[in-house]
Amino acid sequence: MSHDLTRRELLLALGAGAMCTIAGRRVPRLLAADIPRARLSPFALTDVRLLGGLFHDTQQRDARYLFSLEPARMQHNSRVNAALAPKAPIYGGWESEEPWVGIRCHGHTLGHYLSAVAMMYASTDDLRFKERTDYLVAELRACQRARGDGLVCAFPDGSRPLDDAVAGRPFAGVPWYTMHKIFAGLRDAHVHAKSTDALPVLAGLSDWTWNATRSMSDEQFQRMLDTEHGGMTEVLADASVLAHEPKYLDLARRFAHQKVLAPLAEGRDTLDGLHSNTQIPKFIGYQRVHELTNLPEYGAAARFFWQTVTERRSFATGGNGDQEHFFPIGDFAKHLGSAKTMETCCTHNMLRLTRALFAEQPSSKYADYYERALYNGILASQDPDSGMMTYFQATRPGYVRLYHTPTESFWCCTGTGMENHAKYGDSIYFKDDDALYVNLFIPSAVTWRERGLTVTQTTRFPEADITQLAVTAGRHTRATVAVRHPGWCDTMGVTVNDRVWSGRADATGYVMIDREWRSGDVVQVHLPMTLRLETLPGAPDFVAFAYGPVVLAGALGRDGIAPGAQIIKNERESGNMLNAPVEIPTLTGDPRTLLARIRPVAGEPLTFEVAEPGRPQGVRLAPYFQLAHERYLLYWKTHPA
Ligand SMILES: [Zn+2]
Repeated sequence: MSHDLTRRELLLALGAGAMCTIAGRRVPRLLAADIPRARLSPFALTDVRLLGGLFHDTQQRDARYLFSLEPARMQHNSRVNAALAPKAPIYGGWESEEPWVGIRCHGHTLGHYLSAVAMMYASTDDLRFKERTDYLVAELRACQRARGDGLVCAFPDGSRPLDDAVAGRPFAGVPWYTMHKIFAGLRDAHVHAKSTDALPVLAGLSDWTWNATRSMSDEQFQRMLDTEHGGMTEVLADASVLAHEPKYLDLARRFAHQKVLAPLAEGRDTLDGLHSNTQIPKFIGYQRVHELTNLPEYGAAARFFWQTVTERRSFATGGNGDQEHFFPIGDFAKHLGSAKTMETCCTHNMLRLTRALFAEQPSSKYADYYERALYNGILASQDPDSGMMTYFQATRPGYVRLYHTPTESFWCCTGTGMENHAKYGDSIYFKDDDALYVNLFIPSAVTWRERGLTVTQTTRFPEADITQLAVTAGRHTRATVAVRHPGWCDTMGVTVNDRVWSGRADATGYVMIDREWRSGDVVQVHLPMTLRLETLPGAPDFVAFAYGPVVLAGALGRDGIAPGAQIIKNERESGNMLNAPVEIPTLTGDPRTLLARIRPVAGEPLTFEVAEPGRPQGVRLAPYFQLAHERYLLYWKTHPA
């Protein structure tokens, strides 16, 4: 989430020249003039509309799932903790049941759902999502008032986990991780749905946190941060801007975990063995603090973290980790057989970090990763039949994807999953004062209010390798349309009103079309795709195939997969089911010659057949994101001839 700041807002929020207290020390506050703005801004979700196609379909399925849930059930425990009678029974899974009670995630779904309905309202204008947003905020406000101390929480033992944490006692579960979701839901209700009471409730929660933690020593605070604490740094930094309250920014910095911030800021990768989705949100927060303070170590840590995770620690789909943890980068091959690789929350959060880094330093390398993880991680995460979503996306050869139940699971990835498909519009286009950046090739329309321009993108990408941008302008407008030249595309071609645009991509990876625009102008972008191999990091005898941005997987049939069998309640059972024996094909020969043995299947876009010696038939290669109900092979073992 990125929020535009005017200089005036920064001055108000930060108080130019004043002193502030950071971790018990008085330090000069940075002057607002020293504070950089991100170079680019995202468009508000209200300014972008999806116009059919894959992403629109996925968004619609998510909308149906959001409608099917009952907000009153999510408020059960927050009402109990405020001594108010609950209005509906509590939900199951992570929200109330063993064996998950120990992790204290009660209420996380409420926060994710609030974010999701607020963003879905902004993305679709459907007033029913606005009503749900306002209902949840009103309920939270009622609970906060009834308690009287600013806190709203849904833990089964009231505020006990938080009280223990701030008192330096051993505490149950991951209370700050869970609280972050409620903070973020309120922020999103304010930003995306303009829900009137959301900001006061968020400020009340932030004040409670400030007061509860103010007497903690630095050592105590850092010990507390050894336990997963979600995006507390980011959301408190956001709250400081939205509520014009500098002390929340000080608090955001107290939530910075020095044990990971310091080494990564120095370019040292100390991530082996760490829980992946605990770390990623920290760095989103450090980037946000960097945007607001210009403190170099925060920005350096975020950028180095992104680089090492995307370049050295990710699978071809953009996902990372096994059993939710980063492993040594030489060990990829040892983890391929796992059914618990690539937690979907990790991809969700890597995308959020990516767009923040892109906005500060526009470069197609960020947008390339964004596209890769969006098509192959996020599109793949939703079951097109049920609308339910993945937890892990297994690299185990011949395994299948597993999806949550509608109302009995409520995993972390159920929550981030609700959000993923509500906000596709937030990263297709970006803008600065002079330029409109086109990052993704998704059918959509964007309204650039400041310049009076609307751009309508029409495409069947990636099934077709062409996209069209049609301009509507109220008056003749001088501006730049910056079209990303994807890293996977050798020779992108651009025409403007059927004339070849001779400019090539600049150092940031964008073709800058600078001209005076009139209604009816049309830009066509031709994006030829080729088939390529991507080797597993550190294990070049394992290869994945990709065509353009789309990772292809071997389709290995549906043996043993009964209808509905992929819907599971308990994510911990991933890998313990649907393990029918499957013959796993391998490839023989020099990997460099393999591509020549792969042929497109006539009449089936993005589908190929790989001929393998010793098999009577070839193996079909299809987009990994499409193989929702089929056993698949993401990485192929190759043998020398
Ligand atoms: Zn998750």
